[in-house]
Amino acid sequence: MTLKFARLGTAGNEQPAVIAQDTDGSEKYYSLAALTNDIDGGFLASDGIERTRTALNNRELPEISADGLRLGAPIARPGAVVAIGLNYAAHAAESGATPPEVPVVFLKPSNTIAGPFDAAPIPPSSEKYDWEVELAIVIGREASYLSSVSEAEACIAGYAVANDLSERDYQIPGAAGQWTKGKSLPGSTPLGPWLVPASDINTGNLRLQTLVNGESRQDSSTSDMIFDPATIVHHLSQYMVLEPGDVVITGTPEGVALSGRFPFIQPGDVLELDIEGLGRQRQEYFRAEAGSRSGASVPAHSNA
Ligand code: ZN
Repeated sequence: MTLKFARLGTAGNEQPAVIAQDTDGSEKYYSLAALTNDIDGGFLASDGIERTRTALNNRELPEISADGLRLGAPIARPGAVVAIGLNYAAHAAESGATPPEVPVVFLKPSNTIAGPFDAAPIPPSSEKYDWEVELAIVIGREASYLSSVSEAEACIAGYAVANDLSERDYQIPGAAGQWTKGKSLPGSTPLGPWLVPASDINTGNLRLQTLVNGESRQDSSTSDMIFDPATIVHHLSQYMVLEPGDVVITGTPEGVALSGRFPFIQPGDVLELDIEGLGRQRQEYFRAEAGSRSGASVPAHSNA
């Protein structure tokens, strides 16, 4: 049975849930409150996914209604959000870069994580805000100095859709040698809608798409990745400790605005980001006002 882990409720008050097929084939939401307070590293590291499967099989989880509830990011705020750059050859080419021989690694602050349907702020002075659909890895077991790629595989709890929003003027001309300024903006890592267990999905050949106002921008496959998820986790573990609940985003395929083929994100634009089997995000963009702390928690229907 394929499970989808989700967090339902207002930002900061999300409740853990799982979506599973009932015997009649319909998808239903079940509360995980009896098993955990949240979908976080502690839950994943204590075999939470398998305990959920057992509880569902024993019909121990109460069905709940998700009607009208916000879907948050499917994992509680991680300790780290690690990102891989230029992991698709065609995207490296459109960015004017050579495909890397070892993974290009950068970090995003964990406070950039946003819900998959939250209204999304464009920074006040930004003119080059850009999308990046990415396969996100969620870590389920500590990864440190791993000796093999198969050990790394066992550290992956599951996968989700991520958008690695990037401000290109801050990332490249204003970067002073590294990308942090263009990759740290409030709300710049929408994650979800679901966390799908690694045992329930094969990530070798999944279609990834971005649509802007219904028009296709990115449309590729994870089969074009240069470094696959387990190779990435093995590599990262030589340089840092990945902890349960951490998120690793694995790079974006071609079709970003940086290529010059498309306009950058404008206020009022609607972005949809989709990965086969992992669901579809949808964000409406608005201009954050100078002086506002972030604008990242504006309700989805607002045009603030
Ligand atoms: Zn990226």
